[in-house]
Amino acid sequence: MTTLTPQQRVAELHQLLNRYGHEYYVLDAPTVPDAEYDRLFRELQQLEQEHPELASADSPTRRVGGAPLDEFQQVTHSVPMLSLSNAFSDMQLSERELRHEELLQFDERVRKGLDAAEVEYATEPKFDGLAISLLYRDGVLVQAATRGDGVTGENVTENIRTVRAIPLRLPAGAAVPSLLEVRGEVLMLKQDFDKLNAEQAARGDKTFANPRNAAAGSLRQLDSRITAQRRLSFFAYSIAQVEGEDWPASHSAEMAWLRELGFPVVAEDLRPVVRGVDGLIAYYEQVRQRRPGLPFDIDGVVYKVNQRALQDELGFVSRAPRWAIAHKFPAEEALTQVEAIEEQV
Ligand code: NAD
Repeated sequence: MTTLTPQQRVAELHQLLNRYGHEYYVLDAPTVPDAEYDRLFRELQQLEQEHPELASADSPTRRVGGAPLDEFQQVTHSVPMLSLSNAFSDMQLSERELRHEELLQFDERVRKGLDAAEVEYATEPKFDGLAISLLYRDGVLVQAATRGDGVTGENVTENIRTVRAIPLRLPAGAAVPSLLEVRGEVLMLKQDFDKLNAEQAARGDKTFANPRNAAAGSLRQLDSRITAQRRLSFFAYSIAQVEGEDWPASHSAEMAWLRELGFPVVAEDLRPVVRGVDGLIAYYEQVRQRRPGLPFDIDGVVYKVNQRALQDELGFVSRAPRWAIAHKFPAEEALTQVEAIEEQV
């Protein structure tokens, strides 16, 4: 067996991650399980940490998503759509011993950055769909765009208009801002995915590997009549811009306001506000137990510093906020899930 130099391995990882990223983000047709992509991504991050001279500006670790498809009109995001840093728990250990070291490190960094003894976090499931930006002017939906590479996304307004869960107009009587940009995840419920695949199979059409690919493939259609036939769902999880009304001071208050404005947000018992790392771990364990019974796929949970002023204080690194992290479920589970789905199809 020949051993590669770090430089050669970095080049190899660039090539692999770029290929898998293109298949996943652009073609909606991944060829490897997410856990395999995550493993390679972390190997590259590790190599770049050990050999900073090999961390080039075009590294997959610096980039968000994939390039928008040429067939769509392009949209420039005035507030970039970023990714999330990931924390993984130690997967070599038994469940009882599961260690959450990366989570502890995240909390420590946050507390240090804020000079605080304990921090309040808003929690949420990490929906396994695709990110979308919805722009409302004077209460009317005027533009919907995919994340794309974070700076330039695809204009999917016509397709989004067919998603019944997304309000086309904000309710009269509510305090409607002159400009509002809502971000959230478009996904397909497990039951709608099963139905769609059964219909596709009955017609002899291609079936989808999992609900995420079905949602992405359905939304990124050039013919919105096809999107209209697919049952897509949506959950809002952040606000990127507000004008003409007060911007709520915390993430949890944002969620409450979005609900009032008619956006679907996940049930309150799935997004508690907790204090400190013990609260995060208790939430993670609870959601991990509930995961199989949820009507939609999730691949982990997300923690966000709740107060917006504190989020601003912490700011961003190149591709992700410093005030949030995705805590992914163990790889075994992710792999089992992909394999189980592949067997079904
Ligand atoms: P990410 O999915 O890890 O995190 C960012 C995204 O999380 C956001 O854009 C948003 O869409 C989503 N999200 C879901 N719930 C959220 C919530 N409550 N709050 C905020 N955001 C929420 O980042 P990414 O860079 O898009 O994707 C990386 C992941 O995609 C990898 O970890 C891997 O699992 C998967 N991937 C797989 C392949 C493959 O070939 N199988 C290729 C590329 C990426």
